[in-house]
Parts: sequence; structure tokens; C-alpha cells
Amino acid sequence: MSQATQQDAATGVIESVSGPVVTARDLDARMNDVVYVGDEGLMGEVIEIEGGVTTIQVYEETSGVGPGEPVENTGEPLSVDLGPGMLDAIYDGTQRPLDVLEAKMNSAFLDRGVDAPGIDLEKEWEFHPEVKEGDEVSAGDVVGIVEETVTIDHKVMVPPDSDGGEVVSVESGDYTVEDTVVELDTGEEISMHQEWPVRTPRPAVEKKTPTKPLISGQRVLDGLFPIAKGGTAAIPGPFGSGKTVTQHQLAKWADADIVVYVGCGERGNEMTEVIEDFPELDDPKTGNPLMARTCLIANTSNMPVAARESCIYTGITIAEFFRDMGYDVALMADSTSRWAEAMREISSRLEEMPGEEGYPAYLSARLSQFYERAGFFENTNGTTGSVSVIGAVSPPGGDFSEPVTQNTLRIVKTFWALDADLAERRHFPSINWNESYSLYRDQLDPWFEENVTEDWSEIRQWAIDVLDEESELQEIVQLVGKDALPEDQQLTLEIARYLREAYLQQNAFHPTDTFCPPEKTHLILTTIKTYNDEAFEALDAGVPVEDLVSLDSTPRINRIGVQEDYEEFIEELKDDITEELRGMY
Ligand code: ADP
Repeated sequence: MSQATQQDAATGVIESVSGPVVTARDLDARMNDVVYVGDEGLMGEVIEIEGGVTTIQVYEETSGVGPGEPVENTGEPLSVDLGPGMLDAIYDGTQRPLDVLEAKMNSAFLDRGVDAPGIDLEKEWEFHPEVKEGDEVSAGDVVGIVEETVTIDHKVMVPPDSDGGEVVSVESGDYTVEDTVVELDTGEEISMHQEWPVRTPRPAVEKKTPTKPLISGQRVLDGLFPIAKGGTAAIPGPFGSGKTVTQHQLAKWADADIVVYVGCGERGNEMTEVIEDFPELDDPKTGNPLMARTCLIANTSNMPVAARESCIYTGITIAEFFRDMGYDVALMADSTSRWAEAMREISSRLEEMPGEEGYPAYLSARLSQFYERAGFFENTNGTTGSVSVIGAVSPPGGDFSEPVTQNTLRIVKTFWALDADLAERRHFPSINWNESYSLYRDQLDPWFEENVTEDWSEIRQWAIDVLDEESELQEIVQLVGKDALPEDQQLTLEIARYLREAYLQQNAFHPTDTFCPPEKTHLILTTIKTYNDEAFEALDAGVPVEDLVSLDSTPRINRIGVQEDYEEFIEELKDDITEELRGMY
């Protein structure tokens, strides 16, 4: 986060303090200006100006701050520092690096009034120019490359608000982010870092229709409810239903170049888990540390409420910056409910007219402004990049009718409904296949058909039909018992059981099963379909259903997930199932 630099800043006087909300008089300020509040200089942001009174939300604990103390205006909007050094970093909601803060204060508890730049200003990076003297460059163009981490090349770009010009000086070498690396004939000096106001989306040429899936390696997601690269998804679920595990799986396995993980106000120990876990993990695809492509923003519930409100914007701005470089970025927000609660708290302090369940009337607008920043974009420098946004929602009591879930549902195009009953039955991931949906299915099918298999959508539809039929049959079974059903329906229940156990269920903690490539996802379905087709033939030929549901070979279907050499295993299994069934008539 940028520090206050302006010396001639206008100074006001605190009039009142109510938790994170402070009012000041005589402050010459505009909306969203960053201000420093009180003798300790706590960071805040202007959120309302009425008459001579300016209302400020403060990003730090305000106890001990009182009327009469000064408020200093920086005249700048709340911005993030963008440049090499963001990956591998762990920030708080206003982009203060946690490790730097901890070192400064010698404690894990954040003090007040401590500021630190979002990126290391002293570290030197090796800059490799991509332009030469005489080249014309304009806003967004890549002028050079820095190896930010082992995994990611950081593209140094002309800032979006630049008028561009002709390069008059550029040289490779080691530079800090503040050094000039390229000079233009207009006199503009380009360095490796730029600032961007967090509440303003970064410019792009065009938002396009996404056509590629964000492969997650989770069968139920890729197979039934896929999200596009540049898409939006929500994961609502009650406590203990697997939101965190699902988000972690996505952070680890999704085929995004960059992951931005925003923890907004989950309980402190959960976020600590993330902070401790992530740096230990390896990127399964490259073997490099996962953090080499990850930026963590951690705002625990004991951090001030206003910082929770801003962490979402900090996260999405960082995501957009990497998108501008041409990368596919996945942003996970865990959880947007805590973010909405922060909004509610600030709104009530402001004594605004409350909407549904006390949330501010602008809840829905804020949610959609956030999710709208996702997308598959043509960037101003001619590259394409995407930001996919996956938001966890934690509805109190798991009740999806509450405002945050409902408003989110109106916006996102993929809905992964976690289900407490499934979790209780140890069906993981506990994604309810009847309630979940993806509006990207049709637009992603061509990609799957071209890159995985031609019958991708056809066989998926078959599986959906069987699962639907099972739901209907279950109601009857509960009334009259399974044996009262006709034989073909009993067989359908058995097929559906395999769909649930071998296809929908997946163990995140098994070294092989944790990631399932789309090819394997598809082959599991074809195995169950083989069983289905052969068993119905046998049934037609007069084989009793009891025999068809007690084969020796079929239990092996449930073991496909954990097979590393699955192709051979599946081929053999299909042969055995076919042979066993055909031998019965
Ligand atoms: P939440 O974040 O919704 O409170 P968690 O993500 O912490 O829930 O999940 C609770 C527990 O459920 C985990 O500790 C784990 O034992 C189990 N679990 C969830 N998802 C999976 C999965 N995909 N595979 C195996 N176990 C899972």
C-alpha cells in the first residue's frame, strides 16, 4: 500500500470515533482518499462527505483515538503497489506484508500505525528488456521481463495511464523496483512498479466469452459443473462441509498460472492454517513451491473490520495486474460472507438504512462489482488473460436463503452447493449434484470434445439422467423398500451407486486420487457405462437382477480413482465386467 507522500496535505480534526468509523471536520478531501487518522497516523479511507463533515473508515483498531486529534489527507485513493515481489508474499487486507510487519514489531500481533510498502523497495531484480531504443510503446505494453519466481516471469508494463512514446533509453541490468528501466521521449520514466487504485478495474480492450475450462482435477467439478477460465463460481456451504478443502484443492490443482488467495475474516486459526500450510506445499505440476505462483492475502476475524472490507479489492487488483501480463489467474475468496459482514458493520456504524437482515442496500451492487471484474480479457498490450473468481460463502446455519448466498447466486454462473448431509455421510467432495449448476457447460463442451473426447457431453448427459432417476427412485425406496421396485429400476440404483462412489466422490487426501485429469474423469464414466450397457443386455436376456448387482469385478470400479496407471486398469476391468456378464446367459 502506498505511503502518504504529500507534504502539503490538508489536515482536519477528529470529531467523533465509533469503532472503525471516524468523522472529521475541516478536512479537504475527496471520496476514497486515503487519510492518516489521529496522533498514531492510522490508515483510513474517506467513505462519505457531507457538509463540513468527512466520514472515514479506519483500517486499524481505533481504541484510544479521540476527538481533537489530527487527520491528514494524502490526496490519493486507496491503491496497491504492483510490481515484482508480490508472489510468495503474504499480505494483510491493505497489502502490508505480514512478515515485514512481524519483523518490525517483533510479534505476531499487528501493532497500529505500522506501515510497510507492499513490495520490497530495496531488492534488486535482473531486468531483461523486451524493447529497444527507437521503439514506440503505449499503455500496457511489455517493456521487459524479470524472473519473479522460479515459475513466473514478471512482465514489466507501461502503466495504464501513460500516454506512451518512443523509447530513448533502456538497458538490462539489476534494478530496484523504483529505478527507471525505460525512458521515453516524452520524459516519462518507467520503473518496475506501478500503483493502481483498488476500487477501479484495470482497463482492458474487451471482455470476451470464455471458451476454455479452468481444469480443477476434481471430477464432480470438471465433469458436471465446470468453471471457465475467466468465470465466476460460488461455493456456499455450512461449517464442516468442505469449503476450505475445496478451495485448497483448487489453489493447488487448478490449471491457473497464478493464484490469489484472499482469506477475508475467517477465524484466525483457519487462516493460520493456510499461512502455515501453503508455504510447505509444492506445485504438483512443476515441483516448485506452490507459493512461487501464489499471493496470499490474510485477514483474520480479529483484524479490524475495515481492512476486511478492502482485502477483496486488494486481491482482485493484484489478479488483474497479472491478467494484464497475459496470465490466467484464479482468485479464491474465503469467505465472501465475512466480507459482507464487514460491510454490514460499517454500514450500521454509519447509521445507514439497513436492507435485508441488516445488510446495506448496496450489498448486491458491491457483490456484482466484485464478480464483474472476473473475465477472459483481451488486454491493451494485445495479450489475452483471465481472472476466474471463486467465492466461498458461509451462510449461517447452512441456510441458502440468506441475503449473501441469494445475491451471489444472481451473479455467479457456477454454483457448487456443499451439502451437510453428504459431508456427514462422508461423501466428499460434498457437492450436491441436484442443486449445483454451471452455466458454462455448453460453451465449454467444444473444448472438452476437441481436447479430451468426442462424446464428453453425451456421456455426461447419460450420467446426469441416471443420477436424476436415482433421486426420484429414492423417494419410492424410502416408502416401500428397494425390493418392491421393478428389476430394471433396481439395476439403475446400482449403476447410480457407482456413479456416486467412483465418480462423484474423490479423496482429496489420497496422493493419486487428489487430482483426476479430465481423461481419467471421462474413462471412469465409460467404465460405469460399460457395466450399465452390458448389465441391461443381460437383464433383457433373463438374468435375475440379484446376479447383476453382485458381480466379482464391479467393486473394482471404486478403486479406479486411486490408480496411477489407470488406463490399463480400466481396460482390463471393462473386459472382466463384460466377460462376467456375458457368461451369465
Ligand atoms: P469447512 O471449510 O466447510 O468448514 P472443511 O473444508 O474444513 O470444511 O472440511 C471439513 C472436513 O471434511 C475436512 O477436515 C475433511 O476431513 C473432510 N473433507 C472435506 N472435503 C474432503 C475431500 N474432498 N476429501 C476428503 N475429505 C474431505
